[in-house]
Amino acid sequence: MDIKKLMTLHPEVAEMAEYKEVFWINPDSGKEKEIPFGMNDIDDAQARLARFAPYLAKAFPETAKAGGIIESELAEIAGMKTYLEKNHGKFGGRLFIKLDSNLPVSGSIKARGGIYEVLKFAETVATEKGMLTWEDDYSILLEDRFKELFSQYSVAVGSTGNLGLSIGIISAKLGFKVTVHMSADARQWKKDLLRSKGVTVIEYPEDYQVAVAQGRKEAAGDPMCHFVDDEGSSDLFLGYSVAAKRIVSQFEANNITVDENHPLFVYIPCGVGGAPGGVAFGLKEIFGENVHVFFAEPTHAPCMTLGLATGLGEKIACSDIGVDGITAADGLAVGRASYLVSDIMETLLDGCYTIDDEKLYPFLTALADIEDIFIEPSSCASFTGPSLVAAAADYLAAKGLADKMDDATHILWATGGSMVPEEEMKSYYERGK
Ligand SMILES: *Cc1c(COP(=O)(O)O)cnc(C)c1O
Repeated sequence: MDIKKLMTLHPEVAEMAEYKEVFWINPDSGKEKEIPFGMNDIDDAQARLARFAPYLAKAFPETAKAGGIIESELAEIAGMKTYLEKNHGKFGGRLFIKLDSNLPVSGSIKARGGIYEVLKFAETVATEKGMLTWEDDYSILLEDRFKELFSQYSVAVGSTGNLGLSIGIISAKLGFKVTVHMSADARQWKKDLLRSKGVTVIEYPEDYQVAVAQGRKEAAGDPMCHFVDDEGSSDLFLGYSVAAKRIVSQFEANNITVDENHPLFVYIPCGVGGAPGGVAFGLKEIFGENVHVFFAEPTHAPCMTLGLATGLGEKIACSDIGVDGITAADGLAVGRASYLVSDIMETLLDGCYTIDDEKLYPFLTALADIEDIFIEPSSCASFTGPSLVAAAADYLAAKGLADKMDDATHILWATGGSMVPEEEMKSYYERGK
């Protein structure tokens, strides 16, 4: 790979190599391109989650109030808007936060895709055995005969932490044997929690890619093992996409209009790309060109920005430009983007930006002080987004958005936090102070 040439062609690559913050607008956003999924796939995933709702309501009582639907609140954060505009630049409109940090069962956005993929695997196994039909009340899955069935199968995944948490918790609950391959970034409490639930946790001193590769290798030798492939799973992707369908009623409840005169801007922290990619895909299916989606990454792990800006997708890694992948945003510590997602984002995503680790903790503390909302450092990566977009005059002019920003809705997608132990959260908070 001729890195010098790449840097000449794409000046932002040179900046990324120096750990500078960049803001990249996708010149191909909105262009025609065949993508492998459509609305019918989102509907299918949503229907599957509805079939599992009676099971989830019983297996995880914290979901019972919502009828076994794992969903999060959309909250307006006007105080935080004032803070962000004062410190990072005005952006107008209304600011909301999507609290996937509070999702039941596993406290992060992975409670969407991760849990969905394991549920789908369980459904496939049980229906193939003739023990379950789509018309059944899925709470029968709590019966011992299903646990016995599932115990003959195993599930494996490689993760920086939160995906492992989701896959481990749901797999163990259903009765699967489950192994989580954790990268060096994974926090100790996540490994402890999984082990307490009977999950096998294997730790690697290396990064996420090594953990995933090891998981893939182990699973490949075992026909009874389902490997959750964070670098290319359609099931994960579609599980995340359901969020977009469900947010529509939350918009109605909050008097949010999305149309050509009322643009919607969504900012999502990105690791390998599956979670933000799935959500972005769902939103584009529903709101079309009236939604503008941006991904946020740490300056030390900007794999999606790098892949998209160079057009090389997953074929280029952060290490190729000498970037170390070491970041306080553990959920985003990924060196190479998903091949599935980077390909789809080529024409779907509006842009990416990177953020210095130093900013994460002050954002975390400000959100806690102003809104009494506690989220993990990775979740704070998106917070400069609205100000960056509003300052991008050329972009706004090109998209015909310049005079519409007062009527815009901005959503910061909070991706994780509620399961962080209190002591750990306190130390984050103190650091931000
Ligand atoms: C996993 C994760 C992300 C990003 O999801 P990817 O699918 O890896 O892009 C963002 N924030 C948190 C807290 C996460 O755990």
